[in-house]
Amino acid sequence: MNKFARLRVACVQLNPRIGEVEANIRKVHTILVNVPKVDLVVLPELAITGYNFPNRRAIEPYLENLALENGPSIKLAKEISNKYKCFTLIGYPEISNSTIYNSAVLVGPNGSILHNYRKTFLYETDEVWGASENPEKGFSSLKLVLDKEYYLDKQANKTYPTVTTNIGICMDVNPYQFKAPFNAFEFSGSAFHQRAKLLLFPMAWLSPQSPSTKEDLTKSEKLNKGKIFNERYFSTEHKPTVNDNNVAPKLESNTLFVPTTPEGSTVNYWLLRFFPFMKHPNSYQSKYYETATLIACNRVGVEDDILYTGSSSIIQFSGTSSSAPQIDSANPSVNVLGSLGQGDEGVLVRDIDIEFD
Ligand code: GLN
Repeated sequence: MNKFARLRVACVQLNPRIGEVEANIRKVHTILVNVPKVDLVVLPELAITGYNFPNRRAIEPYLENLALENGPSIKLAKEISNKYKCFTLIGYPEISNSTIYNSAVLVGPNGSILHNYRKTFLYETDEVWGASENPEKGFSSLKLVLDKEYYLDKQANKTYPTVTTNIGICMDVNPYQFKAPFNAFEFSGSAFHQRAKLLLFPMAWLSPQSPSTKEDLTKSEKLNKGKIFNERYFSTEHKPTVNDNNVAPKLESNTLFVPTTPEGSTVNYWLLRFFPFMKHPNSYQSKYYETATLIACNRVGVEDDILYTGSSSIIQFSGTSSSAPQIDSANPSVNVLGSLGQGDEGVLVRDIDIEFD
């Protein structure tokens, strides 16, 4: 039996305008027009609603009940899955028995819901609009059959191999509340021990240049800077970026906001948070897999004083290369297959081999 499934992955990096759900959905369709065939579509955290809601009341009209399957994010995921016969993962704001979660739903190639994940570690923005932590701790994996036939035309007497998959949302990659020990590696350590080979991450990750994080500025100065970023880089609609060229990105730290290049220090920080998957003298010995794949799907744009950092990336960790001391993209076990720029709205497409259990 084949050890790998070859999948075409499309990571959609959006600039959702807060509350403009219909326009955001149209943009997703416009971006995906450039991808004639795809097996897995990943969209960002709160992909079509926007993220920085000022309070609970502001987000209430956009909350979706998973069981009803009629919210716009869930409907969009089903539509994409039905159209392409693909898997779709989308971040959305969930309501369940009047509790709010920051969630991501995975839809299968036949349009059915396969899994719903709730963000476990919250960021301050989540708390502002009233999200609750996932009551299930521990980042448990799911066993995902990645063969479309299983969903569309399942053959009796055939066994379909699974891929152990972990879904996380943005802050889940950080130490809990930024207070836990850095080397606790809650998400990545747990995923590694469960032998995960596919790591899916919708995000709304901030730029190191985000005015919201500048403690020396007053609120109105932060808002003013946000406005300037927005006007300078995001006021005109561009043709969507389509990055399907198989060129590995250059990852450099940017001290200035450069919309067309990835923010290298952020991508390297994500990699460091996946240290358990790296072949390194002090890391775990990766005898359980040849390849583990990370899909980090971030958003771009500005909301008030928050500037997001894009840089969505498709990354593979090789468990078979030899261990080396680097703890970033220079480590030989790390293969950054592609990254989008910090301000690109568009799609990153790669054909990748995903390892079965
Ligand atoms: N720590 C992340 C950041 O700085 C968290 C953001 C999020 O959870 N959306 O962007």
